[in-house]
Parts: sequence; C-alpha cells; structure tokens
Amino acid sequence: MYYYIVMRSILSKFEYEDIFRMLDEVSPLDIDCGTLCNAACCSCAQDVLDDPEEALGIYLLPGEDKLYSHNEEWLVWDTCRARDYDFPKSWHGKVFFLTCKANCFCERELRPMQCRTFPLQPHIDEDGSLHLIYDTNELPYVCPLIEERDKYPLNEDFIKATFKAWKYLMREPKIADLIKMDSQYRIEDEDEIIIVY
Ligand code: SF4
Ligand code: SF4
Repeated sequence: MYYYIVMRSILSKFEYEDIFRMLDEVSPLDIDCGTLCNAACCSCAQDVLDDPEEALGIYLLPGEDKLYSHNEEWLVWDTCRARDYDFPKSWHGKVFFLTCKANCFCERELRPMQCRTFPLQPHIDEDGSLHLIYDTNELPYVCPLIEERDKYPLNEDFIKATFKAWKYLMREPKIADLIKMDSQYRIEDEDEIIIVY
C-alpha cells in the first residue's frame, strides 16, 4: 500500500464557502426541477442500484475537500492518483471521488460544485473566453433542463452566479487547466456546444 499527498490548492476553505453560499441563493428554475424528472441526476446513488459499484460519482475540485469533515454519513469517500486518470498535467497527488449513498439525500448546503453547476459546464472557446454551456457529457439519464431547454429556460440569476463562481474558481490554475482540457476535448470531438452565457 502506498500513500500520496492531497493536491494543493490556492483556494481557501473560506473562498469555497463564499462560492457555495452564493450558489445556495439561486436555482436553475423557480420550481424544484427534481419534480420534472424524479431527481434523475440524484438517482444514481448506491442504495437504488443492483450493483452499488455502478453508482455515479463526483470528482471534487482541487481544495474543495476542505469544506468537508470526510466523515459525512451520506457520502462514500474514495481517492485516486491524478496521474492515473485523465486529469491535467498540473494535477499531482490525491483526487477525491465521492459517491452518494442514498437516493436523493444529501446535506444540500454541502452538495459538491459539480451538483451546483449542472446542467451547465464552464467552457473556454477558441478565443480563450470563458462561457457556460449545457452539459455535453453522455448521461445515463435525461435532464429536462437540457433536453427541453426551450420549455425550461434557466433563471438569469442562476446563470450569472454560476458564471461568477467558475470565473472565481479559475484563479486556481489547476481548475483553469481542467476547464481548458475539457473544452479542448469538446472542440476536438465536435460536441454540440450550446452557449448559455
Ligand atoms: S438538473 Fe436536470 S436531471 Fe437534475 S433534477 Fe434538475 S431537471 Fe432533473
Ligand atoms: S450530492 Fe446531493 S445533489 Fe449531488 S448527486 Fe448527491 S444527492 Fe444529488
């Protein structure tokens, strides 16, 4: 067995708390969008799957783990070495990987950044400008906010706060590198890029 170091981040716990607080004040729609789809994006937890190993997980951003005690009963904590996976070259050491234990249950104020930004993703275009786009990942569920986006336009304050959050997070060069790498993959793969902001 070997041990590896937690990845360093210039973002402090307090900066992450500020970002989380700002995003707690907004939501994609005025209604709970989980009522449109039975909370499809939260329904891949361990307790609802025949094989708990198939549960969808969430990678934390560098420094995001500072917000957690690591003993949250609703989460399974796992780690991987950045260099063993497709992360930017600037990422070294331990990356935290979380899986939700129970269907649709979490401490809402602690849901990770990936849950807060969905269904949007940060994207850097070929001119180097940051945008928010609809998530281009292949998902094992249907998100009405993406698939029926004309019917369910996202709240302006949600879009603006999410953009502000990513703009701030990009002060951490490792996060900027991740956004650049994912954006480059999208461009190379000719993914459908729908710019929201
Ligand atoms: S973000 Fe999409 S998939 Fe998740 S609860 Fe809202 S509508 Fe459903
Ligand atoms: S942390 Fe919360 S919001 Fe995120 S997938 Fe789990 S239950 Fe859903």
